[in-house]
Amino acid sequence: MNTELQAFLLYRNKLASYAIFISFLYPILLIFIASILIMQMQTILFLRLLAIALLTIQVILILNKLNSEFKEYYDQKKINTKSAIEGTQRERLLNLITPIVKNKETRKPLDFIYAGKGRETGAYSSIRFSYIFLSRRILDLSDYTIQSVLAHEYVHLVANDYLKLIFISCVRILTLFCVASFTIVLLFRIPLLISIPICLINFALFRFFYKWAERILENTADIGTAILGFGPGLIHFFQLFEPIPSIKVWLTDSHESNKNRIKNIKNTINTLN
Ligand SMILES: [Zn+2]
Repeated sequence: MNTELQAFLLYRNKLASYAIFISFLYPILLIFIASILIMQMQTILFLRLLAIALLTIQVILILNKLNSEFKEYYDQKKINTKSAIEGTQRERLLNLITPIVKNKETRKPLDFIYAGKGRETGAYSSIRFSYIFLSRRILDLSDYTIQSVLAHEYVHLVANDYLKLIFISCVRILTLFCVASFTIVLLFRIPLLISIPICLINFALFRFFYKWAERILENTADIGTAILGFGPGLIHFFQLFEPIPSIKVWLTDSHESNKNRIKNIKNTINTLN
């Protein structure tokens, strides 16, 4: 692997791990405060029961998530061969990714898959295979643009982002439930004049922690692409694919705006020159 990229990934991996750890501490702190508030309440039994029910549901959801993710990860079979990109398109993608991978292959055999509904790109690894997902819309783009998308996904693969995302998604379930429990307890326990502003601040924190760690991974993949020399193509791609703004995007999309992503890539290219 490109040594510059390797050094950069080493540093960013540490940063992402800290972000995941701190994102994990945040819901724990919330549930701790909520527990103290609940313990002080002798009269409101239903709040205690609600807290226990919420806690049970989230534990079940997290275990279920971990089980399905790791099952997929340890699956020895190739995933869904029906959706594999084959024939001349596959040849084309292999030719395009060769200069990116250079003399160092990804540790696992790499294949290309059509992206599922509502997705444009993605990278996934199981214990034996690595995959890059691409939508049909992206396959219609020029070689120059596709190559930069492949470089971005390649960085996700070599940085093992798939495994990090499993933990990020578990922390998200935990955060969602802890914020909900905390809000309910606060609204019941403290006068509304005080509890509503706290809840609003907490909601802003929730939105930040929900995206923080994954945003670091995306940012790393963008800068990594620029380090590999495919930054200009990625800028071109972001100019073509601007996501449609919506409340869902505002609330949950872990990507920065395309304008910021382009700015980051341009900064990296300038620093490298
Ligand atoms: Zn990405």
